[in-house]
Amino acid sequence: MKHYPLEIQKRHMYRLHCKDPKIESACRRLSCVFPDICENMGTDHGPLVQLYRKARTLPGIKKILIGSGVRYDLAVKSPEYVRELVSHHVGGYLKIAPEHIAEGPLAKMMKPGMGAYYKFKELFEKFSKEAGKEQYLIPYFISAHPGTTDEDMLELALWLKANSFRLDQVQNFTPTPMAMASAMYHTGKNPLRKISRKGEEVPIPKSGRARRLHKAFLRYHDPENWPLLREALKQMGRTDLIGGSKKHLVPAWQPAGTGRPANSRRPETGRGTARTQHTQDRPRAARRAK
Ligand code: SF4
Repeated sequence: MKHYPLEIQKRHMYRLHCKDPKIESACRRLSCVFPDICENMGTDHGPLVQLYRKARTLPGIKKILIGSGVRYDLAVKSPEYVRELVSHHVGGYLKIAPEHIAEGPLAKMMKPGMGAYYKFKELFEKFSKEAGKEQYLIPYFISAHPGTTDEDMLELALWLKANSFRLDQVQNFTPTPMAMASAMYHTGKNPLRKISRKGEEVPIPKSGRARRLHKAFLRYHDPENWPLLREALKQMGRTDLIGGSKKHLVPAWQPAGTGRPANSRRPETGRGTARTQHTQDRPRAARRAK
């Protein structure tokens, strides 16, 4: 069986592969796309575009929609592919998974930086406009992933607020068998680097409070989370983010009948998937179209 590095196997990368079989057979990199896209990686999405076109002509096929799974850092290398995808295969919404915006957790997830997300967003919006379609990108994020600090989650919460994203459902990272992140979770070390006693330590948000807090940052707009967020912001020396104006993350007041105490031990809900679902503030008509 042909060996493909980790990332190649996981996502929609039809016929994207190493340019040279000899180099490929000797290659020991964990990923062709992290920390950056390998210079030997073929990023031509032409065969995938042809596949889409062929599939559309099959008898009985009315519409082929792609809802998620696009590896956007590779897609931006082929704007023609993004045009094809956006013009014919997006049904109003496309989920993509930046997972985080802070470099620390992104490096532990082997994910690209936000530069690729912004580039893809630009192409997505440009080609949607050209096609005369109103459609939206839905980015997914993860909370409490190994390598994530409270400050990273605060940075993400501020980004969500600045971009008017309000997450509907949120689930924390859960370690699963055979995952690199699970090794980090259980050892507190970074297996992407040399393992030794002095090897890189990875911050693990394991305690109940840390996990609740990270989740709460993703749902900064939910009054139930405000007591915990206020307490954390005070501990982080960020009382400047508590108040009633747009520049604040949470208000200083609490609506009657809401707000779990900051030390609440309510169990987390949900298991398995580590991603989030959310909606962005957007025109009412667009929300109805969902
Ligand atoms: S040389 Fe680069 S493209 Fe080829 S298999 Fe290794 S990482 Fe992937």
